[in-house]
Amino acid sequence: MDCDVLIVGLGPVGQLLANLLGAQGIDVVALDEALAPYDLPRAAVIDDEVLRILQSAGLAEGVLADAQVQRTVSYRTRAGRPVEIMRPESGPYGHPPLVSINQPSVERTLIAGLDRFPCVDARWGQRVEHIDQRADHATVWVRPNDGGRCEELKARWVVACDGSRSAVRAMLGVGFGGSTFRQRWLVVDALTDQPVLGAPHPTFLGDPIRPTVSLPMSPGRHRWEWMLHPGEAAEPLLAPESIQARIAEWTDDPDLSIERSVVYTFHARNASRWRVGRFLLAGDAAHVMPPFIGQGFSSGARDAANLSWKLGAVLSGAPQSLLDTYEAERRRHVTTMQQLAVRWGKVLQTTNPQAAAVRDVVLTALDRVGVVAAVRDRIKPTATIHGGAFAQRTARLPWRRAVGTLLPQPLALEADGGEPRLLDDCLPPGWVLVTTSAEVAGVDAGFAARLIPMDLDEGGELTSWMQARRVDWVVLRPDRYVFAAGTGVAGVPRAAAAMQRLAGTGGTLMPLPQLAALAGGVAS
Ligand SMILES: Cc1cc2nc3c(=O)[nH]c(=O)nc-3n(C[C@H](O)[C@H](O)[C@H](O)COP(=O)(O)OP(=O)(O)OC[C@H]3O[C@@H](n4cnc5c(N)ncnc54)[C@H](O)[C@@H]3O)c2cc1C
Repeated sequence: MDCDVLIVGLGPVGQLLANLLGAQGIDVVALDEALAPYDLPRAAVIDDEVLRILQSAGLAEGVLADAQVQRTVSYRTRAGRPVEIMRPESGPYGHPPLVSINQPSVERTLIAGLDRFPCVDARWGQRVEHIDQRADHATVWVRPNDGGRCEELKARWVVACDGSRSAVRAMLGVGFGGSTFRQRWLVVDALTDQPVLGAPHPTFLGDPIRPTVSLPMSPGRHRWEWMLHPGEAAEPLLAPESIQARIAEWTDDPDLSIERSVVYTFHARNASRWRVGRFLLAGDAAHVMPPFIGQGFSSGARDAANLSWKLGAVLSGAPQSLLDTYEAERRRHVTTMQQLAVRWGKVLQTTNPQAAAVRDVVLTALDRVGVVAAVRDRIKPTATIHGGAFAQRTARLPWRRAVGTLLPQPLALEADGGEPRLLDDCLPPGWVLVTTSAEVAGVDAGFAARLIPMDLDEGGELTSWMQARRVDWVVLRPDRYVFAAGTGVAGVPRAAAAMQRLAGTGGTLMPLPQLAALAGGVAS
């Protein structure tokens, strides 16, 4: 066997997955047909969930070093009235909820991160041409860019992160259908040190003649997007003088330079299956969506986080069926994000003047009476998984939900003092029991237990979160989603047994009979 996991495609999703697998000491070969990472901007923003995933890979600080926190997002009516459609000031996951980035800069951080892991072999200039699989391994045939001979590589698992035109997906015969949303946009990336006057934050302009988006990227960069009408020729819009005239409506920076201008067609599509035997699809190979809510790479990053610990567990002896929970858990969230992106795209892309006028009147009225402010920060789908690799069902009432949700990440204090740190940084990696009860922390159920008594819960956020859900312990999966929750010691061994059934020795090391005895002991 050449490696445990072979990653096809070293775009940001493949890079992140390689980091998350490398951190578990898994033997990885990750290859890309390009000679070097793609060096032009694509993703403009990421969210706090992605930053938390990057934090788990030790890369959040590196990414934030070339990023800009966004605290507001506006829609501007065609009459120029601003409506604040998002106020991403703070969120529960320990990071700013909306951050502008430059994708090549993020990718440089991710690729540099791979140097920490001798078990990860990243290869550029190698294209996957054929695939095959047997009961116990998968084979891919890889051709170097110089046209040399194909090399045969055997892996236990292959993850195709080879983008929206995924060759692996095609070779597996997996369809890429779903919604047929298609829209062409002119995307212009500029280098400028001056904030754009009147729109220093992400701004959507509801101009029915030319719907427009203005986006600050990482420091020193700005992007504009202008919609093309059906059948409209792209060439006149791409002419430098045309682009300059458009940009002049937004800024008078004499030093601004255009880095790239291109016409993109935005799609919303889904692979019909995300796993075929020993092959899995992730990132754009599994799903694409219009960029209006900035969730393309972010969705791929969630895929990587969901898949990485499951691959680690299966390689350590967990049943292979654990990998089926990957699509089961991720698809619904992706589809919800796609629907939101398509819906918002439709609102923005209105070109009928009457419909645009109605849209603006309605939005303005809703804004005036406070409805927009009341709902704007609840529109994004929550980090909740309904069904999958969990010990218990997700509660129906959102405010009672613990299992299936991503645990908030407040600041916590270490028992031996020191500065408060983000909760995840105080927890060991892997499965962990977090409790506010000393009695529960004393139960030896095989978990790495972490007691967060109220005096160490800086700000009391975790304690309040648990109290609202009437629990005093949670068992976290390695991706920090709540696997099980309860009150008192009785349920802890049962949660441990459920974890061991699911994750095998990739979870706790305590043998099942001992757990059963323990469960019997505390239940009686
Ligand atoms: C204009 C625009 C704006 C966007 N804005 C946002 C945003 O604001 N927020 C956000 O989260 N996302 C955004 N996105 C989406 C984001 O850029 C993508 O979702 C992300 O790049 C997908 O990453 P990936 O690793 O899945 O695929 P890719 O980045 O496409 O990488 C795939 C890799 O696979 C390699 N490859 C392909 N075939 C083979 C083969 N046969 N053998 C070997 N290697 C192969 C390719 O060379 C490539 O490096 C935007 C995209 C665009 C175009």
